[in-house]
Amino acid sequence: MARYTDAVCRLCRREGQKLFLKGDRCYTDKCSVGRRAYAPGQHGQGRSKVSEYGSQLREKQKARRYYGVLESQFKGYFELASKRKGQTGENLLSILESRLDNVVYRLGFAMSRAEARQLVRHGHFTVNGHKVNIPSYLVKTGEVITLKETSRDLEKIKSSIETNSFRQPPKWLDFDKNTLTARVVALPSKEDIDLPIEEHLIVELYSK
Ligand code: SF4
Repeated sequence: MARYTDAVCRLCRREGQKLFLKGDRCYTDKCSVGRRAYAPGQHGQGRSKVSEYGSQLREKQKARRYYGVLESQFKGYFELASKRKGQTGENLLSILESRLDNVVYRLGFAMSRAEARQLVRHGHFTVNGHKVNIPSYLVKTGEVITLKETSRDLEKIKSSIETNSFRQPPKWLDFDKNTLTARVVALPSKEDIDLPIEEHLIVELYSK
């Protein structure tokens, strides 16, 4: 599958805010958003007024980039969200947040969603006791996500757990730090998602 392979910091600079795509570095003064607070490229410093369409598009791109989702997949999530009961924008955020790679990141097993995606791909997690190596797998209420016994000594995972130990997992995930197991107690709602995404702009964009 095609993936974005250019420097990820450019994406943050394009959105004008931190998207936390690089783990540790995002929390240091090496972060490019602080050092070069303008969009990348030749005309980056010249852009100013944003149209209504432009702001809707930027919001969609921002959400896509936070979760590391390609355009076609994002559109698929939007269609799924519109078929669910309730508000489409909130459903969309809930679906994105329910991705297994995001869950792994939220639980502190990885320093970024990209790293979490790789850990899932390498088969380090089980869902209800079965190995799941699909980062886009959508977790459901009642499911139990566990770090495999054989993966507990991996240096990368151990260091992430230690670094992230101050982070509280979201309340929709009941995390047991001793067994490194989390149960999905409910699907995430908008209040559980701390990302600055104005989902109504995304709905407006796709409703045109
Ligand atoms: Fe974005 Fe992190 Fe790069 Fe800063 S260091 S620009 S937050 S990816």
